[in-house]
Amino acid sequence: MNNETLDPILISEIQFDKANSYISHLQRGLVEFLKQPKRINIVNFPIELDDGSVKTFRGYRIIHNRVFGPGKGGIRYHPDVNEAEVESLAKLMTWKCALVNIPFGGAKGGVSCNTKELSTNELRKITRRFTSEMFDVIGPYTDIPAPDMYTNEQTMAWIYDTYEVLNPGENNRPIVTGKPIDLGGSYGRRDATGQGCLFVTERFLSKRLIKEIAEIAGTRVVIQGFGNVGRVAANAFCRQGAKIIALSDSSGCIYNDEGLNLDAVASFKDEHGVLVGMPGTLTMTNEEMLELECDILIPAAISNQIHAGNAKNIKAKLIVEAANNPTTPVADSILNEKGIYVLPDIISNAGGVTVSYYEWVQNQANEQWDIDTVNSKLKKKMYDCVDVVFKRWQSFVVGEERGVDKKTGEQIECPDFRTVALITAIERVANATLTRGIWP
Ligand code: NAD
Repeated sequence: MNNETLDPILISEIQFDKANSYISHLQRGLVEFLKQPKRINIVNFPIELDDGSVKTFRGYRIIHNRVFGPGKGGIRYHPDVNEAEVESLAKLMTWKCALVNIPFGGAKGGVSCNTKELSTNELRKITRRFTSEMFDVIGPYTDIPAPDMYTNEQTMAWIYDTYEVLNPGENNRPIVTGKPIDLGGSYGRRDATGQGCLFVTERFLSKRLIKEIAEIAGTRVVIQGFGNVGRVAANAFCRQGAKIIALSDSSGCIYNDEGLNLDAVASFKDEHGVLVGMPGTLTMTNEEMLELECDILIPAAISNQIHAGNAKNIKAKLIVEAANNPTTPVADSILNEKGIYVLPDIISNAGGVTVSYYEWVQNQANEQWDIDTVNSKLKKKMYDCVDVVFKRWQSFVVGEERGVDKKTGEQIECPDFRTVALITAIERVANATLTRGIWP
């Protein structure tokens, strides 16, 4: 990938420093505080597998910042989970919660494991043991997990149950979000991230920055990833009149220029476990798919998919980052030069944590809101978020605000949307740090 760094900590550092060039008043020490995680927790624990052998797994829970409230962030089960990745994702959660104005800090967790090689019984044991190892770390008012890649409502139910057994006699429902409805989950949480993507795209298009696209209806959309987020996003965009021309999972991509039949795709995926092989579609690689001619490209799988090596070949007019960190900093610059707009992860996938917050609020009050209530609140939050970032971006475009290279003192170019969103979030967390008196 042209020797660019893919180190997740360095990438978040580059993004932070870029945003900081547009913020005039952050003291040096405060910058260091905001960059560092508050607490890193790593556990190794043994599990007896179904064949009687014992394997030791490594789990992480990293709390980056709790200035606005309890740590909040998903738990990921993937072989590539490591400390650097979890730390960078925890930071992203801090900025995301601050940007959408919900009273949570940032955290993330994960277990390094391959769910495709583990039985339900083994996954249950891993989840229960991981939860009990993290019992002193997580809590309804300290740190609240949620689903992420290769975890789901079932995983959240096991976390809730384990916590409840260890801490009986309390209302423990707010310990975790993304639970099944019967256990205090919120209507709309399962769809919230994909639905949120739709709302932010709709609002962004209404600003008419992309002259030829005023609305979602009629757009040609490519989506990488067909999991919790990608599947919902595909259906949501399709319901608004978009044509989903390509979809992928880890097996590869399926393509139909006339638009894919999503019901048939879902049935095929549920039956065969993969997308590739779906009748009536062409097969291509994930790499080829990203470079397809289309209006909207939605990466909804893993990180670093749009990088120095392929950014110049991207033909989409708009990238909506449903996944976390799908675009590298070098790719950001290339896309910016090409005039391709990127709606960054901290806006585009913030619907998930927003409805997680609504679930937490419902759990405190022992209420269950109906789907229309949840979705109308979500829509307003997502629209407001786009409006705030767009307005701030315009203040840079017209020169009311400027950025300065802190080393040379030279004026720098107008920031992209990721940078503007980060400026807004970092300023909010910094101001709250000072107001609370955390900073000496
Ligand atoms: P998921 O596990 O349900 O789905 C992941 C999808 O990615 C699957 O379709 C899988 O086949 C595909 N995939 C895995 N490796 C791939 C590869 N190498 N190339 C192409 N596709 C690959 O996960 P999810 O919950 O849908 O999360 C997807 C992304 O969205 C992640 O980056 C996650 O951090 C982010 N996200 C999720 C939520 C949420 O509420 N679930 C919220 C915010 C952000």
